[in-house]
Amino acid sequence: MELSVDASRLRADIEANAEFGRIENDDPEKRGRTNRTGTEANRAARDRLVAQFEDAGLDVAVDGVGNLLGTWTADSADRDAAPVVSGSHLDSVPEGGIFDGPLGVYAALEAVRAMQDADVEPDRPIAVVSFTEEEGGTFGNGLLGSAVATGERDIDEALALTSEDEVDGVVAGETLGEALARIGYRGDDAIDPAAWEAFYELHIEQDTVLEAAGADVGVVTTITGITHCEVTIEGEANHAGATPMGDRTDALAAASEFVLDIEATANEVVERDSDSAVGTVGSLSVSPNATNVVPGRIDAGVDIRDVKTESMETIVAAARDSIDRLERERGVDTSIERPFDVEPTPMSERLRTAAHDAADEAGRTAIDLHSGAAHDAMRVARVTDASLLFAPSRDGVSHNPREWTDWADCAAATDVLAGAMARSAGVTASDGITAQFDDEE
Ligand SMILES: [Zn+2]
Repeated sequence: MELSVDASRLRADIEANAEFGRIENDDPEKRGRTNRTGTEANRAARDRLVAQFEDAGLDVAVDGVGNLLGTWTADSADRDAAPVVSGSHLDSVPEGGIFDGPLGVYAALEAVRAMQDADVEPDRPIAVVSFTEEEGGTFGNGLLGSAVATGERDIDEALALTSEDEVDGVVAGETLGEALARIGYRGDDAIDPAAWEAFYELHIEQDTVLEAAGADVGVVTTITGITHCEVTIEGEANHAGATPMGDRTDALAAASEFVLDIEATANEVVERDSDSAVGTVGSLSVSPNATNVVPGRIDAGVDIRDVKTESMETIVAAARDSIDRLERERGVDTSIERPFDVEPTPMSERLRTAAHDAADEAGRTAIDLHSGAAHDAMRVARVTDASLLFAPSRDGVSHNPREWTDWADCAAATDVLAGAMARSAGVTASDGITAQFDDEE
């Protein structure tokens, strides 16, 4: 008995899903799609997933915010036991790629089918989930379905979010609740990640660490925390010709020092404490922004990320010190606010071990890395054990029709996912599982 992921079946699923919202293109490795929540393309993608769930004998549930769950309860499983769940999302950014999201959903389904084919005997139900509006941009600012399911966001507030865009069936001003009802996916089933035994999400890496290492799969240790600071620096706008150098309070000259202070501190943190820390002054708006006027006011946006809370706090503290110094030395007035702050999210040690064991057994190379981007697993990790696995992304490109993961890489990562899910569902090596890659490519 062996667990054999079918590479061609997985490929067929991802290619079929890529048709919904397809961007016309002749290059077979540039297959973009636009699949935004609530659109007709989104309805079609969901309809196909539900049909695939039913084909595999899964029980289908749809919750109030349109999250989809397909559950396999094997004869061997305790119907009431907490399920092992895996999945991701089907929606995309405008003109996004075909792997970001769908790989995780269809890999989870392929893992279930591989277990069914191998007649493994799990102790627990095993389920596949597809979360609504992961990308945001149409009705929310991302990770919406998983935030509602985990109780982090109120469902009524989420359903009342409106679309500003008129796109593929979505009417401007339509609420998420209305859009889901229109496409037939405003359900009334309960989907509660807090009641799950374990959650695995397989996603494309969207970076080049795996490619550079030549590894098959990445096991994420921590999803980085993110802080945004909004800084204002006020000087005095004045005539660039008539104001002598000694009489100026130049807000942009002060802001230039601020930008370099953030860069220097981030570099120090990288050297001393944490090589994953980053600090970026990503936006500056100059007022009045005229060549012949000494700049009077700057609004700066700072993005700070790391896997360690302490190093993020060090960079925020440096930002405060920097503007205090500029007030003293340059006579500017400053302010700083921190409107967005998400702590780093460590992934479950237990599930990471299961993933590494599965990789070893399948003969796949797995390496530890961190995720600089947020994924649904971040929400789920707040309420139960969660794990995030990465498949290699060619050149790290994503959110772009050039996004690409070789089919063999998709299958290899799915091999590891299947083995890890089987372990968490009580299928042990003594049941004879050896995940085997069906190498037809
Ligand atoms: Zn994604």
